[in-house]
Amino acid sequence: MAIATINPATGELLKTFEPLKDAEIVAKLDTAQQAFEQYRKTSFESRSLWMQSCADILEQEKAEFASVMTLEMGKTYKAALGEVQKCAAVCRYYAEHAAGFLADVPVKTDASDSFVRYQPLGVILAVMPWNFPFWQVFRFVAPTLMAGNVGLLKHASNVPQCALAIEEIIRRAGFPTGVFQTLLIGAVKVADIIADDRVKAATLTGSEPAGASLAAAAGKQIKKTLLELGGSDPFIVLASADLETAVETATAARMLNNGQSCIAAKRFIVVEAIADKFEQLLVEKFEALKIGDPMHPDTDLGPLATPDLLKELDQQVQACVKDGAKVLTGGHPLSDRPGNFYPPTIITKIPPGSAAEQEEFFGPVALLFRVPDIDAAIKIANATPFGLGASAWTTNDQERDRLIEEIEAGAVFINGMVKSDPRLPFGGIKRSGYGRELSIQGIQEFVNVKTVWVK
Ligand code: NAP
Repeated sequence: MAIATINPATGELLKTFEPLKDAEIVAKLDTAQQAFEQYRKTSFESRSLWMQSCADILEQEKAEFASVMTLEMGKTYKAALGEVQKCAAVCRYYAEHAAGFLADVPVKTDASDSFVRYQPLGVILAVMPWNFPFWQVFRFVAPTLMAGNVGLLKHASNVPQCALAIEEIIRRAGFPTGVFQTLLIGAVKVADIIADDRVKAATLTGSEPAGASLAAAAGKQIKKTLLELGGSDPFIVLASADLETAVETATAARMLNNGQSCIAAKRFIVVEAIADKFEQLLVEKFEALKIGDPMHPDTDLGPLATPDLLKELDQQVQACVKDGAKVLTGGHPLSDRPGNFYPPTIITKIPPGSAAEQEEFFGPVALLFRVPDIDAAIKIANATPFGLGASAWTTNDQERDRLIEEIEAGAVFINGMVKSDPRLPFGGIKRSGYGRELSIQGIQEFVNVKTVWVK
């Protein structure tokens, strides 16, 4: 895949970038290793000041950063502004809490003094996706750099200007040279970089094939990985739910980021008693959304990030229809304009056993399932290879407890939309990946948990 900026709203090729040559990659690895040797000795106070400075730059120049995101991957400008703000928040969160999260932990044993100490590992490689081009990187950067590690970023090939902008923010914030570097490289170079002795661990957010490939390469070298992969999150609505709020949230949760979020609600599982009403309201909400120029403040839904994603999503929809499913609204790419536009789409009557039950639909397509009761709802919710998040709606305490206990996912949100929050751990189970980002768990992923025993 060429490293280039192509406007998803128009299809226009705006800028191409030369990938780094092998010698340049080696030079950057040298720089990273040298930086680590000094950086690991810096104090939490210094790192915290630099991290707060990152937050200041993000906040002060958010309009510029948001424009680059919208230009490269098509999210609405208003959503991009929110993303920049969230990046600033995660920087401030770890600037404030990292020292506490990584402080020595005394443990009483037979020693005169015993405790746990957290130490940085070294150079960490991050392979990141285009869908939240700033947020995915900053949720890696903030804990990783605060822990005393240094970072290398291989960003998705369609967001090179975002990748370079992030490197520049971190440099301007005052972090020492080499503590964070962007590598403009294709995916083919990732395995060689992981094999390099200077790289100690890797994290990847993206698709299952990419995750499996990175984990295999790291496994050969006995190096730790963290994987944040796909999801097909259920959104369960039971009879006692506040229906209006549930439908409104369902629409927001499916359309988040033009439908391209790992934690977007993708399968709507609704009990029969309220299914007709839910379906009718959802169709109304979907049809009222404004599709168009992502820079325009009134736009609700922009284009998909690439033509391939549009093609793939449409193939999934057509396969589903061929299997016997019914389209309630949408169902075909918008051919009256350039760019990668797909309308809000709702599919129902999905035949049991069809591929749609198992796959992730990465775009504004909602799959609607009707079920007789909570047992059937939980069964369908768990019947995918994924286990990232789940949203469930009920005002009944017993139902709530069962949903929390029985849903197989890294997160369950009751009467709310699944979201990430620096204060809460984020990650999946099953084929959605392993490890956790954010919160105290996130900063403890890439550290040596050293046991100290003294007599
Ligand atoms: P992708 O194609 O897997 O790309 C993600 C990153 O991996 C890119 O930097 C890509 O580089 C790189 N890559 C691709 N193949 C690779 C390989 N064989 N070895 C090493 N690196 C490789 O995914 P995407 O289409 O950008 O993102 C969509 C997927 O990400 C969805 O499944 C979504 O659910 C998931 N996602 C998960 C989370 C989460 O937190 N769980 C968050 C966001 C997205 P190139 O661009 O150069 O190919």
